[in-house]
Amino acid sequence: MERKELCNAKRIVVKVGTSTLTYETGKLNYRRIEALSRVLSDLANQGKEIILVSSGAIGVGADKMKLTKRPASVEEKQAAAAVGQCELMNVYARLFAEYNHLVAQILLTPDVIENQSGKEHVTNTFLALIRKGIIPIVNENDSVAVEEINFGDNDNLSSIVAILVKADLLIILSDIDGLYTANPKEYPDAMLIDKVYEVTEDMEGFCSGAGTKRGTGGMKTKIHAAQKARINGISTVVANGEHPDIIYGILEGNKIGTLFVAEKGEQCLYE
Ligand code: GLU
Repeated sequence: MERKELCNAKRIVVKVGTSTLTYETGKLNYRRIEALSRVLSDLANQGKEIILVSSGAIGVGADKMKLTKRPASVEEKQAAAAVGQCELMNVYARLFAEYNHLVAQILLTPDVIENQSGKEHVTNTFLALIRKGIIPIVNENDSVAVEEINFGDNDNLSSIVAILVKADLLIILSDIDGLYTANPKEYPDAMLIDKVYEVTEDMEGFCSGAGTKRGTGGMKTKIHAAQKARINGISTVVANGEHPDIIYGILEGNKIGTLFVAEKGEQCLYE
């Protein structure tokens, strides 16, 4: 899909990271989550099928447990995720309910989608929810995922979900405006790239740095996720989630963020 076609996207996966959902203090950014819940509810009212991939479990859990920084050990991260996931869903359920929408939690681990039957089952669950107009909210099942074989990051998870449900569009909301020709924090002259038709090795060099201390990904994981989606026929926009209303602009075809244009022909090369 090119920009002018994005208005036709019906099934849309939106991914939001911890740095977008929380303040520097580690606490939830209610203003932003409220805006996100309103925009997504409104799009669902328009007839769009929305799936939200939300990070934040570990960050929110760490805050609830009054930890002063993101936990380092596996078991502490898993404990924080168990606390935080509850809180996150509680907040989403309340905010989406304000706009008369029901949400559902789906927690995934790689083993679920590595076998054909698990993949079909979870896809059917997504479709059953979508058919009923319920908004699935997805995260990795961090409390049980084994670190060596987890999805790694939610950018990757969001592309996997988009491929599973054969989404028309993936939107990855981040704390940066999109893909630049160099890291804009280090090179003020760096320019935002409007469209990508081919992900090249040079692009990895454009995005040094591993994101913020609250998130995990950085731009590199977003490029990988966008590439995975686009070779499977799904266009992907990486944009700044500071003002969730920009999702409207993206769907109106405005030049917002970086659009990774899908390869033509639905390939569904899910790996
Ligand atoms: N699943 C992790 C969480 O909810 C986040 C992973 C990521 O941000 O990539 O805290």
